[in-house]
Amino acid sequence: MSEERQLGFDTLQVHAGARPDPATGARQTPIYQTTAYVFRDADHAAALFNLQEVGYIYSRLTNPTVAVLAERIATLEGGVGAVCCSSGHAAQIMALFPLMEPGRNVVASTRAYGGTVTQFSKTITRFGWSAKFVDFDDIDAVKAAIDEDTRAIFCEAVANPGGYVTDLDAIAKVADEAGLPLIVDNTSGTPYLVRPIEHGATLVVHSTTKYLTGNGTVTGGAIVDSGKFDWSASDKFPSLSAPEPAYHGLKFHETFGPLAFTFHGIAVGLRDLGMTMNPQAAHYTLMGIETLSLRMQRHCENALKVASWLETHPKVAAVTYAGLPSSPYAERAKRICPRGTGGLFTFALKDGYEACVKLVDAVNLFSHVANLGDTRSLIIHSASTTHRQLTEEQQIAAGAAPNVLRVSIGIEDADDLIADLDQALAKV
Ligand SMILES: *Cc1c(COP(=O)(O)O)cnc(C)c1O
Repeated sequence: MSEERQLGFDTLQVHAGARPDPATGARQTPIYQTTAYVFRDADHAAALFNLQEVGYIYSRLTNPTVAVLAERIATLEGGVGAVCCSSGHAAQIMALFPLMEPGRNVVASTRAYGGTVTQFSKTITRFGWSAKFVDFDDIDAVKAAIDEDTRAIFCEAVANPGGYVTDLDAIAKVADEAGLPLIVDNTSGTPYLVRPIEHGATLVVHSTTKYLTGNGTVTGGAIVDSGKFDWSASDKFPSLSAPEPAYHGLKFHETFGPLAFTFHGIAVGLRDLGMTMNPQAAHYTLMGIETLSLRMQRHCENALKVASWLETHPKVAAVTYAGLPSSPYAERAKRICPRGTGGLFTFALKDGYEACVKLVDAVNLFSHVANLGDTRSLIIHSASTTHRQLTEEQQIAAGAAPNVLRVSIGIEDADDLIADLDQALAKV
């Protein structure tokens, strides 16, 4: 692993975590389509169940194909370990689960994926958890939102969908001073463009459904641990620092050190919540991740061309792409994501809601879908779809006002994408 660390990103995205199959020599990582693994003998089985030996028991917990992907993502993010799970939303619950208890809260950015706003403001309250949403550009507001019951700070590096870049260094400082872990959703940024751990993130979560897989084939998620947080520094994180009754009083942090969060995620999180990634999904994501940097370069180039063109169009009121020189986040983007700000942005039409609905029906090359990070270009009117469950106030705060369209620019020829938008805009 330490040797791999010195290799470049493009090499690691192809090789990290993988080696020729020891049984057959197969060069590509096999899809280990199995539920269970034969124990060597009864002692081996007992050691595995006691967490005294690491190995495969049952695919709800671990699977060799999924393990290659977990190590690949952990390496690309510069973390010590990762847990893969069934979707990005599963990853968010899995990230919060060891930290939270009934009555505890997470301080989260208002600029987040619509599904995250709903998950955090509605669904998690069923567990007795809650979220306090604040503007993460207002550092004093973030500080003021933290109370005795806060157990985590949550934001997206490059926020979906508003063309917003979070000042991760400033937020990490606040989290650090409060003795709290910072969780960063790096789905839209990807580790090629943003490395949240280098800016102070404790945990990085992903919807691998998006750019990491890259072609809209499977859902998946991952939680990467930086290994840098001291879970025993306070009594706030008993799941990691105090004895675990289900493992004869084992203390995860004391026993596994920097890998405590990863081991807990598998041995308790996947064991009991069961939000497991299947080996087929891991295979598709491993295929996709091999070309991550190449795709991200093209996504960034194309997004800049399309955003620059839209900015000059008479029917367009505004374009929020952090890669544009006109963006208020242009300077910050150079520090947080110097290689580019990805393929995702929004633009507003002067004519409002009705014109947006007409436009999504008039495009040919762009697909009208609720997804992002595909090789294909995608468009959606957030206010009538992904952000429909939000109040208008929440929609505006999330960068998804009624006259706003979100695009995920693919890797096609930029001129063809511009021509498609041009003919569609002529019809609205
Ligand atoms: C899609 C997405 C999610 C949720 O991921 P799923 O794989 O759809 O569950 C979370 N955060 C961001 C930024 C996303 O784009």
